[in-house]
Amino acid sequence: MDEEAAPKRDKNGPKFHCLPHSTQGSARMGTRKKVHTFVRVKPTDDFAHEMIKYGDDNKSIDIHLKKDTRRGVVNNQQTDWSFKLDGVLHNASQDLVYETVAKDVVAQALDGYNGTIMCYGQTGAGKTYTMTGTTENYKHRGILPRALQQVFRMIEERPTHAITVRVSYLEIYNESLFDLLSTLPYVGPSVTPMTIVENPQGVFIKGLSVHLTSQEEDAFSLLFEGETNRIIASHTMNKNSSRSHCIFTIYVEAHSRTLSDEKYITSKINLVDLAGSERLGKSGSEGRVLKEATYINKSLSFLEQAIIALGDQKREHVPFRQCKLTHALKDSLGGNCNMVLLTNIYGEAAQLEETLSSLRFASRMKLVTTEPAINEKYDAERMVKNLEKELALLKQELAIHDSLANRTLVNYDPMDEIQIAEINSQVRRYLEGTLDEIDIINLRQIQEVFNQFRVVLSQQEQEVESALRRKYTLIDKNDFAAISAVQKAGLVDVDGHLVGEPDGQGFGLGVTPFSAKPGKKSKSKKTFKEQLSSSARKEGASSPVSGKELDVSTSKTQLTPSSKEGDVKDMTIRERETSSLEPLPSDSPKEELRPPRPSTPPPKPVAFEDFKNERGSEINRIFKENKSILNERRKRASETTQRINAIKREMDVTKEALNFQKSLREKQGQVDHVTARHVPCSFTSRRAPPDS
Ligand code: ADP
Ligand code: MG
Repeated sequence: MDEEAAPKRDKNGPKFHCLPHSTQGSARMGTRKKVHTFVRVKPTDDFAHEMIKYGDDNKSIDIHLKKDTRRGVVNNQQTDWSFKLDGVLHNASQDLVYETVAKDVVAQALDGYNGTIMCYGQTGAGKTYTMTGTTENYKHRGILPRALQQVFRMIEERPTHAITVRVSYLEIYNESLFDLLSTLPYVGPSVTPMTIVENPQGVFIKGLSVHLTSQEEDAFSLLFEGETNRIIASHTMNKNSSRSHCIFTIYVEAHSRTLSDEKYITSKINLVDLAGSERLGKSGSEGRVLKEATYINKSLSFLEQAIIALGDQKREHVPFRQCKLTHALKDSLGGNCNMVLLTNIYGEAAQLEETLSSLRFASRMKLVTTEPAINEKYDAERMVKNLEKELALLKQELAIHDSLANRTLVNYDPMDEIQIAEINSQVRRYLEGTLDEIDIINLRQIQEVFNQFRVVLSQQEQEVESALRRKYTLIDKNDFAAISAVQKAGLVDVDGHLVGEPDGQGFGLGVTPFSAKPGKKSKSKKTFKEQLSSSARKEGASSPVSGKELDVSTSKTQLTPSSKEGDVKDMTIRERETSSLEPLPSDSPKEELRPPRPSTPPPKPVAFEDFKNERGSEINRIFKENKSILNERRKRASETTQRINAIKREMDVTKEALNFQKSLREKQGQVDHVTARHVPCSFTSRRAPPDS
């Protein structure tokens, strides 16, 4: 196939591009390439030599129409058209057609490129003959069986790869999807409701059966079954087969037999036999025929619209979802695939109008460019195995280095709980000052030391906070409801300052932000209610909490007096508002607590719970089920990721240890007498003998 590199579409890349970017895969981009368009003329004894002329290069076709004399001598009626395509096939054998149109597309599919071959044209022009061929005569077999043959022949020629082939056969009739390879008796769409689904890998038909075929004969019998189903359906459902679109898909997946290669490629070849393109909505159609006509005219005109949009460099949006045909072919029209359009036309004068319309379609298709790319993916299992192998090798190498450096006792395996506990204790002693330095043994140990620093730090933070909580009630500064409730209760003024008894007794007395000096600690055992009722609102007394403590834990928190054990937050604002609080002292009439509110509708979370238990119980059940399936899948994915990450980490540690060893050995070359099992290294500036 001659490559026609075209300039890039625009600086933001092609808008229609639908690359199957697998989460674990990648696609190697190729150059831009035009859709290849061919015309095949159906042989006839009545060929309109006067009207249809082929160019010498066999790539152009000229149409000449005699002037309609009824429209007068002077009229602007166009009479000549010239179409330049990639090839005109007239009197061409099935063999030549395959060689010209399909061979390269199929060959490239085995290298990971998606391919689409489409036959377009009016009914009877030879689309099905081209695509499927005649079943009675082997010589006249079409593109489908030949493509299958080529795929299996190429597999035989590639013993280095394990290649699997799957096929599916979809029919779209009156906007309904039919599985031509369904093993069930053919009963129609209500039994097998198929849907078109899009995901990052591309478009696929949910519910369409995909069949593994290990040899040519299996594939042929599936193709035969599909063709038979197509004919049976046309009788039982009174369908006109020229009114349906058929998509036969060959899916290829190739894994290298060399175990070390974790990459693999996938591709699909779509072979599309479109419905007749003749204008059907002419006068006289009614009922079923009219419905068919509408659907076909619509889907082909949507196909044309999509193609015009694909061919227009300035168009941002390509309308793929307007009908089943374009939606199902979304990632097979344009995009990253090799694409070929074969237009079937009659050679007779009587069909010239339809022929012109078919050729116009072909020349529109010629404007579309695609960017063929290899669909490359990664086999996670193989990747893990390869990493494990490499890890084992690196460990061996490290062992050799250690033995050369007399470091035979160093263990590089992940630490167990006892070792971690020992490091934790070292860190604590170090922080207390009873241990002067922590010896470095290896990188893993260094990392664990840092880790334990973090653990100890967060434990201490928690301890400080819970100490505060035991004494005081903490309110989140962002919890405006709680703050306003406290303000209402007169515990905090509008600026967020605490108010309280001037002598600092009872509960905590607020002073401006929480950097107040340490004061007398509260000994109050009053309940929250008592505290509320007895609270005076004066400012200026010292806080009972030391500034140091507050700095640690109250960056986002307001302090208010605590109830005996509980937390203010445990008591909802509503409770506080409606419970029988004693009125505040009369010197603050404005701040009096409001009477209990009348009953209000339940809060949203409660209403939602009710809904889930009653009307929404079925939805809730399905939701829960789906959620658990999702969680299960997430878990599996995360396990694999963790495994890979763990191995990677281990490898990094091992590699670093190895480097460390190397540098150590280099140094040792200079200071020969130093042999140490441990390399003392202080975390402080002081140096002292290592702790036992
Ligand atoms: P379509 O699918 O476009 O409606 P078909 O492929 O069914 O048209 O062709 C209609 C008839 O013409 C069939 O009997 C087919 O065998 C015959 N025919 C079409 N093209 C050729 C060809 N190139 N050579 C011989 N017979 C052909
Ligand atoms: Mg047909």
